[in-house]
Amino acid sequence: MARPAQARIDLAALRHNYRLALQLAPHSKAVPAVKANAYGHGAVDVARALEPLVPAFGVACIEEALELREAGIEKPILLLEGIFTADEVAVAAAENFWMMVENRIQLEALVDAELASPVSAWLKVDSGMHRLGISPDDVRGFYNALRESANVKGDVVLATHFACSDELDNDFTARQIQCFKSAVEGIEAPLSMANSAAILGWQEAHADWNRPGYMLYGTSPFAHSHEHGDKLQPVMTLRSAVIGIREIGVGESVGYGSSWVSERPSRIATVAIGYGDGYPRHAPSGTPVLIKGRRMPLAGRVSMDMITVDVTDLNEVVIGDEVILWGPDLPVNEIAKQAGTIGYELITRMPLRTPRVYLDD
Ligand SMILES: *Cc1c(COP(=O)(O)O)cnc(C)c1O
Repeated sequence: MARPAQARIDLAALRHNYRLALQLAPHSKAVPAVKANAYGHGAVDVARALEPLVPAFGVACIEEALELREAGIEKPILLLEGIFTADEVAVAAAENFWMMVENRIQLEALVDAELASPVSAWLKVDSGMHRLGISPDDVRGFYNALRESANVKGDVVLATHFACSDELDNDFTARQIQCFKSAVEGIEAPLSMANSAAILGWQEAHADWNRPGYMLYGTSPFAHSHEHGDKLQPVMTLRSAVIGIREIGVGESVGYGSSWVSERPSRIATVAIGYGDGYPRHAPSGTPVLIKGRRMPLAGRVSMDMITVDVTDLNEVVIGDEVILWGPDLPVNEIAKQAGTIGYELITRMPLRTPRVYLDD
């Protein structure tokens, strides 16, 4: 008794991908990014599965960090964008959240706070992405202010973030590394640069702390086949089942807007998955789904709760047959490309309506 749409989450694959991040950068520690509900996979379950392996977790905001604490996660949690309001500093100190400092307002909130115990801080340097972080010229001043503050404990990690590390023939990453290294020259502090694409493809970006996100969920951040990207194991399988089958004649249309019209007598399978379940509405006719291990094309628009598939070329299809929308045998990146987006968005936007089913072995 259940609608068959599910996102199956393979926790063994998740751990494999984290270990790959460690193997590729054996001299670095790796803080897994579990922000945005672990890119749609379920932050609490993902963090529980990784906790024995990791030094800390990375999230986007204190609400996400508190969710993990309330679920019993005990490792430190890095707030990748720092705090949004000054009252968060005391919470960060009390809960062992590491605070990224991105600007003067965050610095002052940290230094001026009245804390029962000090907090760990990272300092974010803008090496060319121009989204967050302090200017390279300000590094020394910010760094000294943090080191001198009684509110800050231990090392201050110096960090930066890449704009183009998924483009392996783009030298913008090399220029960002150069800019960052010259900004931090002479400072004896741990460094952090690499996201997933840089862990997989830019060895010179590996530093004391790496920050893998997307790769943990098993899909390559690169557009093309890559020796390390291809070693990843997809964690999420989006699956559902056939709930209707009909034969239609030549010239009949299928779905909203009658956008798909049969050019031959056709068999149409209706599948219980739609944009309300995280399948992209912009996936056009022709986008593949897997039925009985074979790729069958979408026929007609994606509805909220259903899609329609042309299964004329499949011999036997019956109601109840499993349908895979993406997973190990059908890369989410391929579906994303069809829909005009990236795999990051499709997995991250998986709605709560779609049950996550956790598999571990
Ligand atoms: C999300 C995030 C990451 C992880 O990026 P991926 O491309 O998913 O590996 C790393 N660093 C920061 C600052 C982030 O916000």
